[in-house]
Amino acid sequence: MDTGQTGQIYDLIILGGGPAGLTAAVYAGRAARSAVVLSGPLPGGQVATTQMVENFPGFPEGISGMELAQRMQAQAGRFGARIVIEPVTGVDFSTPPFTIQTHTETYRGRTVIIATGAFPRRLGVPGEARFFGRGVSTCATCDGFFYKGRRVVVVGGGDSALDEGLFLTRFAREVVVVHRRDQLRAAKVYQERAFANPVMRFVWDSVVEEILGEQTVSGVRVRNVKSGETSVIEADGVFVYVGMRPGTQLFAGQVELDEQGYVVTDRRQRTSRPGVFAAGDVQSPDFRQVVVAAASGAMAALEADRFLADGVYTRWN
Ligand code: NAP
Repeated sequence: MDTGQTGQIYDLIILGGGPAGLTAAVYAGRAARSAVVLSGPLPGGQVATTQMVENFPGFPEGISGMELAQRMQAQAGRFGARIVIEPVTGVDFSTPPFTIQTHTETYRGRTVIIATGAFPRRLGVPGEARFFGRGVSTCATCDGFFYKGRRVVVVGGGDSALDEGLFLTRFAREVVVVHRRDQLRAAKVYQERAFANPVMRFVWDSVVEEILGEQTVSGVRVRNVKSGETSVIEADGVFVYVGMRPGTQLFAGQVELDEQGYVVTDRRQRTSRPGVFAAGDVQSPDFRQVVVAAASGAMAALEADRFLADGVYTRWN
C-alpha cells in the first residue's frame, strides 16, 4: 500500500492520464521523483478515441490514437510512474502536502500537475440526453462500427467534425455534416478530403434544433439560420462535435480559472497556487494538439522538479 493513507507523500501527483499527464510522468520519473498518475476512465485521454494521429512528430505514416496513448503509458511506466485508474472526487490545495481524494483512497503530494483535459461539449437540444449513448455520440472511433450501411449526421465544422466524419465514411452510406455557417473552421487538409469524399454531404447555415425518434434515433430537425426554414434530415445516428469544455469542476476555488473555466497558468505552467501546475487542454483552449499537450506536460514536470529542489515559486506572466 503506497497511498497517503499509510503516510506516503508523493513528490508529484498528476491528475489526468492523457498526453500531458503521461509526458509529465516520464519527466518526473527521469528526475527520480516519485509520481502517481490518477487517470480518468479513459486511459490516454481524448487522443485514445482518435482514429489516426498524423501530426505527432516521429510517426511519418501516422499512428492510431489508441496505440500512441498505450505507448505513452508504457513509457511513463518504464520510468517508474504508478498509473491508477481512479476518478478524482475532491482536492485540497490549501496547504502542502496537497490532498487528492478518490472513491477509495486519499493521496498526498508535495506538488500537483492538473492535466485533466477537456471534454466534448453537448448541443443541449431536446432528444440529445435521451439518446446519448444509444444513437447520439461524441466518439466515432467508439461507435462508428454500429452504423454500417446507415445514414449519420455529424454536427460541427471544426477539425473534430471532419476528422471523425471522414472516419464514419468507412461504415455509413451517407455522412451529413450540419454546420451553422457556410464556411468550415477545420484545417484545409480535412476540408479537401471531405469535399472529395462521395459519401459526405454538407448542410450549411443550419443548426440542429431537436434529435428525433421514438425508441431509436430517426433523424434531426434542423433550422436554416438565414431563411429560418426548418426541415428534417432522416438519420440513424448523430455525432456531435461542437467544441470542448475543460475538466475543471473540482478546481474552482483551489486555483484561478478563466471565465470559460480553463486553469490559468503563466508561461511556465504555474497556476495561482504555489506547487500546483497545469498542462495540456485543461489550461489551453487555443491549440488542442497532442504535441502541445505533451510539451506542456514536460514543462510542468520540469517546473515541479525545480519547485521541489528549491521551493522557489515566483509567478510571472
Ligand atoms: P472547434 O475547433 O472549437 O470547432 C467547433 C465547431 O462546432 C465549430 O465549427 C463551431 O462553429 C461549431 N459549434 C460550436 N458550438 C456550436 C453549436 N452550439 N451549434 C452548432 N455548432 C456549433 O472544436 P473541435 O473541432 O472539437 O476541435 C477542438 C480542437 O481540437 C481544435 O483546436 C482542433 O484543431 C483540435 N483538433 C485537432 C485535430 C487534428 O489536428 N488532427 C483533430 C481534432 C481536433 P463555428 O465554426 O461557427 O464556430
